[in-house]
Amino acid sequence: MTGGAGFLGSHLCERLLQTGYEVLCVDNFYTGTRENVAHLLSSPHFELMRHDVTMPLYVEVDEIFNLACPASPIHYQFDPVQTTKTSVHGAINMLGLAKRVKAKFFQASTSEVYGDPKIHPQPESYWGHVNPNGLRACYDEGKRCAETLCFDYHRQHGLPIKVARIFNTYGPRMHPNDGRVVSNFIVQALTHKPITLYGDGLQSRSFCYVDDLIDAFILLMNSDEDFTGPVNTGNPGEFTILALAQKVIEMTGSKSELVYQPLPADDPLQRQPDITLARSKLDWEPTITLEKGLEPTIAYFRQLLETRGMTMHQ
Ligand code: NAD
Ligand code: UDP
Ligand code: UDP
Repeated sequence: MTGGAGFLGSHLCERLLQTGYEVLCVDNFYTGTRENVAHLLSSPHFELMRHDVTMPLYVEVDEIFNLACPASPIHYQFDPVQTTKTSVHGAINMLGLAKRVKAKFFQASTSEVYGDPKIHPQPESYWGHVNPNGLRACYDEGKRCAETLCFDYHRQHGLPIKVARIFNTYGPRMHPNDGRVVSNFIVQALTHKPITLYGDGLQSRSFCYVDDLIDAFILLMNSDEDFTGPVNTGNPGEFTILALAQKVIEMTGSKSELVYQPLPADDPLQRQPDITLARSKLDWEPTITLEKGLEPTIAYFRQLLETRGMTMHQ
């Protein structure tokens, strides 16, 4: 697994080990941490390797989960050229590896391939509305090109591929400073700092709890050989950012106030997955409501802030 020390990767490593896999976790720790997988290091079935996927990798494996890529706007815009390289060179190297060892290949794609969508909710057949040279392009176009590479390795070399288009996902082990809305709001609420709403807060997102998403990954990887995706994986429950802020304040009992800040460039107005395909091909749909998923997520950040001496004062 590439990107295995990140938020989603660490949960996937955990799940694969529970299922009896031998896991080689490859990560350059750009946004992931050793702490995320520290609890797995004692397993004889788990191996952690520092490696940048923009460089070739020669190992022997049966399956590849390609998750390496910074995922939050702050992180992927910090070094945008490296972000594109990670998606594109990283995909070429990992697909080349898969081709050599005849491994099944899973690509973590994203709802960002739809850009600022003009069709709502977004089905897989929608080609998207992406600005090719804006601030988000390094991520969006990098991921679109990675999809292209997957399908060309599939058509040209007969490589078995599985492409998941992941929508906003949250849960324990999100990076506390990654600027994503769920982590930002929870940390702000727990420290009674102002909750930062960008724009009017009426833009929407659909939030999936990490455990539901990992179920979809496993089902997709084990799906019929002729099913390649792309398949939307996300929770269709759609909320405005303002509603999320209010829910987090309510659940944390926070005294935080709402402050409005400018909307970043190219920020999509709305996003909701059409999961008809996942329902029919994978027999999957999310089961964890936003409220249920926020409970362990808030508990995780509360614990993290306590260990860092940033405990909230009522
Ligand atoms: P994350 O930043 O926590 O994890 C990404 C991991 O990739 C990190 O451990 C990072 O160190 C590693 N990495 C980055 N560049 C690398 C490189 N060049 N070589 C090796 N490792 C590298 O993010 P995440 O939320 O866990 O996302 C995982 C994957 O899922 C990403 O590909 C992301 O684009 C995709 N995704 C996530 C979401 C979401 O809501 N979390 C949504 C859509 C897509
Ligand atoms: N590659 C790798 N590990 C391997 C095989 C290939 O990292 O086990 C990389 C290598 O850098 C290569 C890229 O994957 O350039 C693409 O491989 P492919 O065989 O598709 O094309 P090549 O460039 O070798 O013709
Ligand atoms: N957002 C916000 N306040 C924050 C962080 C994010 O209002 O402190 C908004 C952001 O502008 C976007 C939405 O929340 O409209 C989701 O942002 P995130 O970065 O989590 O994900 P993405 O934009 O990639 O979906």
